[in-house]
Amino acid sequence: MRLDKFISHASGLPRDIAKRVIRKKEVTVNGVMIRSAAHQVEPDDDIQLNSQKLEIRGPRYFMLHKPAGYVCATEDGDHPIVLDLLEEDPSGLSIAGRLDIDTTGLVLLTDDGQWLHRVISPRSDCKKVYEVRLQDQVTQDTVDQFAQGIMLRGEDKATAPALCVPMPDHGAEVTLSEGRYHQVKRMFAACENHVVALHRKKIGVVELDDALEPGQYRELTADEVASFLA
Ligand code: URA
Repeated sequence: MRLDKFISHASGLPRDIAKRVIRKKEVTVNGVMIRSAAHQVEPDDDIQLNSQKLEIRGPRYFMLHKPAGYVCATEDGDHPIVLDLLEEDPSGLSIAGRLDIDTTGLVLLTDDGQWLHRVISPRSDCKKVYEVRLQDQVTQDTVDQFAQGIMLRGEDKATAPALCVPMPDHGAEVTLSEGRYHQVKRMFAACENHVVALHRKKIGVVELDDALEPGQYRELTADEVASFLA
């Protein structure tokens, strides 16, 4: 690959600026200053711009344990955002399936647009599992309504069949194949119940890692990444 192309890819600088920094003697390859933008570089070369090593980053995939109080957005004037929790450079990262500010649990982040699409596209039928705490105990009628599909206020299409399994102490485990706005809360509201706490524990086959405390994150394993491409 040409040196100017490598610098542009690795640093995000436009190609003409990459050429300029080479001309200005700011670039070394294996310790030798190079002034030719056309110089060919190899994968193992040590390429530095102003003494900072440059590397071409592969796509990145993370799971984050979202705490309450953080917004799933790339910017927000009023609240902290989930990207604030990363020690990594957040540029280019998108959130695969947003959670409300008060919802906790599994959030996936990536800069791979095609992978993101596979996770969130309704066509992928990627199931999301939520632990829910409710004001009232879940009734059989609610279980049936979730299974049949519910016409939410302001929408013209009923929700896809969803699984609602009642749990002790006003709890439920809900599995959805869609990701509509405030969907879990609105589905229970339509069944005259109220969500008190909501936590996402699974997306597809990827489960929130028990080792992650709220606010912590880790890279996805290669198997976890590949599971959405199967
Ligand atoms: N459904 C909701 O109501 N809120 C969420 O954060 C996720 C799903």
